[in-house]
Amino acid sequence: GSWLGLLGGGQLGRMFCMAAQSLGYKVVVLDPAHDGPAISVADDHVLSDYLEPLGLEKLAARAGAVTTEFENVPAQSLDWLADRSQVSPRGNAVAIAQDRIAEKAFVTSQGIEVAPHLVVRTADDLGENVAHLLPGILKVARLGYDGKGQARVSTLAEAKAAFDQFGKVPCVLEKMLDLAYEVSVIVARASDGSMVHYPVAENIHRGGILAISMVPSPQATQDIAARALTAAQRIAHGMNYVGVLCVEFFVVKNAAGELQLLVNEMAPRPHNSGHYSIDACVTSQFEQQARIMAGLPLGSPRQHHPAVMINLLGDVWKDEQGRFREPDWAYVLREPNAKLHLYGKADARSGRKMGHITVLGNTVADALTAAKRIAERLGIERF
Ligand code: ATP
Ligand code: MG
Ligand code: MG
Repeated sequence: GSWLGLLGGGQLGRMFCMAAQSLGYKVVVLDPAHDGPAISVADDHVLSDYLEPLGLEKLAARAGAVTTEFENVPAQSLDWLADRSQVSPRGNAVAIAQDRIAEKAFVTSQGIEVAPHLVVRTADDLGENVAHLLPGILKVARLGYDGKGQARVSTLAEAKAAFDQFGKVPCVLEKMLDLAYEVSVIVARASDGSMVHYPVAENIHRGGILAISMVPSPQATQDIAARALTAAQRIAHGMNYVGVLCVEFFVVKNAAGELQLLVNEMAPRPHNSGHYSIDACVTSQFEQQARIMAGLPLGSPRQHHPAVMINLLGDVWKDEQGRFREPDWAYVLREPNAKLHLYGKADARSGRKMGHITVLGNTVADALTAAKRIAERLGIERF
């Protein structure tokens, strides 16, 4: 049919709706909130919890193919939907990606390295055995995002306190790494196993939240880029993944001074580091997801311009008095090589993703120069 279904009503869903609509599809969105960014642009919506059969039933009745923009949707909801509609990504892959313990185990099983870590299920797992992981980061295994559900810990006592504070839910304790830089790779894999990939993006995070993506990565060597791509492809094939998948990597220097690539985590959906693809690639990551669902050929991922993406967090809305107000966008709108994207969220809050700007250039250095100027004008911390 001409309807596609979407679980989740956030900005990723909003950009998916726009891409699907540009191919002539209609999108029905299921979300518990009535005012999400996707709902205002969707063709129809269902207000329901992600586990509530009635809402899922309505979605399945309307849409022949369903996806999720929200990696924490219960995998069992996707399994339930899979008996009634085509679902991509499938529940098995989402179940891996939404649980850091399963994710690290799966990546390791594919012969790909992850950060040194320990699974923490009970307080007893935290003993003298964790000394080699300190200082480290305790991360809740499930439901964390944008650095939430993470605590930096320097001592065993701090690790124990953080575990208590998270409510003793399953966690991983990861060694704090001295990162050379961070990269991500987005692939789109169709149900017949065909796959395309986007160029390696280099990402700068601030306070655990993505701040800037530069594509192609200025720092990644050919060797690192090739290894990251191979790892992402192996992960997608290994899960028999269908849909758009992002794999985030750490690049670190090992004791011998060689660059080492470690998988940080993956996202079973279009990713913030791929937003530039709307403006800089022949086919955006969102359009790839719609094509896969509709059984259409994958689109060319070719990047026609180097790009720098600046995330617009709620902090940009803050004036000198600390009040939130709409920034004056005229400066950005007049920039010849910048594209402003706003998600239509009513209330700006610190750390909340409100929009992004993609800056194009003939080289990534050109785009970076313009991006820095725009960011400075908007009061975004120097990068
Ligand atoms: P999101 O899903 O929004 O990307 P998240 O909450 O899942 O974020 P992570 O990706 O685990 O968070 O971490 C966010 C950022 O924090 C990383 O991109 C990196 O900059 C930093 N970070 C995380 N783990 C480590 C580590 N072990 N060593 C050094 N830095 C880290
Ligand atoms: Mg994450
Ligand atoms: Mg991350």
